[in-house]
Amino acid sequence: MPAARGPLSIMVPDGFEQVAYGHDAETGLQTIVAIHSTVLGPALGGTRFWPYPDEGRALVDVCRLARGMTYKHAAAGLDQGGGKAVILGDPRTLRSDPLILAYGRFVEGLAGRYVTAEDVGTTQADMDLIRSVTRHVAGVSEALHGSGDPSPATALGVLWAMRAVATRLWGSPDLGGRHVCISGVGKVGSALADHLRAEGARLTVADVRGEVASAVAARTGAEVVEPARSHAVPCDLFSPCALGAVLDATTIPELACRAVVGSANNQLATEADAQRIQAAGVLYAPDYVVNAGGVINIAEERHGYDRMRAEERIRGIHDTVLRVLDLADADGLTTADAADRLAEERIAAAQAARRAGEAVDARSGTPLDPRAQPS
Ligand code: NAD
Repeated sequence: MPAARGPLSIMVPDGFEQVAYGHDAETGLQTIVAIHSTVLGPALGGTRFWPYPDEGRALVDVCRLARGMTYKHAAAGLDQGGGKAVILGDPRTLRSDPLILAYGRFVEGLAGRYVTAEDVGTTQADMDLIRSVTRHVAGVSEALHGSGDPSPATALGVLWAMRAVATRLWGSPDLGGRHVCISGVGKVGSALADHLRAEGARLTVADVRGEVASAVAARTGAEVVEPARSHAVPCDLFSPCALGAVLDATTIPELACRAVVGSANNQLATEADAQRIQAAGVLYAPDYVVNAGGVINIAEERHGYDRMRAEERIRGIHDTVLRVLDLADADGLTTADAADRLAEERIAAAQAARRAGEAVDARSGTPLDPRAQPS
């Protein structure tokens, strides 16, 4: 369904720094960029190309996603803020090179406050094209000295998160002999299955594309189960790597695992499910901490991409997961709340440091930006 055309709201929701609206009549581009926070650095987040039924819902979605990126980057220790963009319309009918270029110029106009990347409906080829009109784009192809597909990095991060959870549950990071059930063996899930196979884990896999599940099973020796029942497989770790909202009032009581550690975004259907899963005695490793490998990898492009250095930083997910679990224990929080608190504390500290620096500069009369000094 084509996106509705018409004037966009000019409201900036509470807690957001900026919402920028873009339009290009020639190509039909209608875009909204939400910058939630630049306290830690430029707001990084992908561009979703999606046929929203109206602008209101596009605004709600882009803001929800941008806020999530702030938390993900903060918890991962990245010097990146949170942002997101949407292009309204169906990419199958609306996408054109001129439209993508018009969008890139719009991003360029935000002067680096927002750095775009690939998301649902956009591709790495789109990011490569955008690179020709702005440098404020990440996740470009390796041919352009970028970091390429983030999925292997995300899978590696999930593996390190699983090792942290194993340490917490069984006193050792060793996943050999542990039974892991992966629901969704696409780009991330299949790479994760390969890692776990190499670790000597026992695997069960599920995917709505039966042939994909069978191919992974043939390669890794995994057992295949129906996707609808994958959450109820008796195992050590359940790893949702498909869709969000898989943990709800129906599925949580049916979990037969010790912990949930997966790549899917927004695994908890509602906030109440964080409490519910804790009460069920299942350790939930917060999704945005577990799946940060992709953004850690992309963020490395800022310093000139180096795969070894990126992988070193992705290993840090192990310690971040343990910090979240410790904080949850110490303060009696759900693990989801503990992750949010970790992120909020880091942002608050950066904010306080920035204000303190500004106050010192104001007292000394030193302009913050030396270029602002009158000549
Ligand atoms: P993908 O599309 O390559 O793989 C998803 C797989 O899940 C597909 O094989 C699909 O057939 C399967 N699937 C869909 N519905 C299912 C269901 N109900 N039950 C079981 N399987 C189902 O996506 P991906 O890139 O591997 O990402 C997986 C998840 O991780 C997504 O939620 C994504 O948002 C999240 N994530 C991915 C990355 C990344 O780097 N790719 C980073 C962060 C988060």
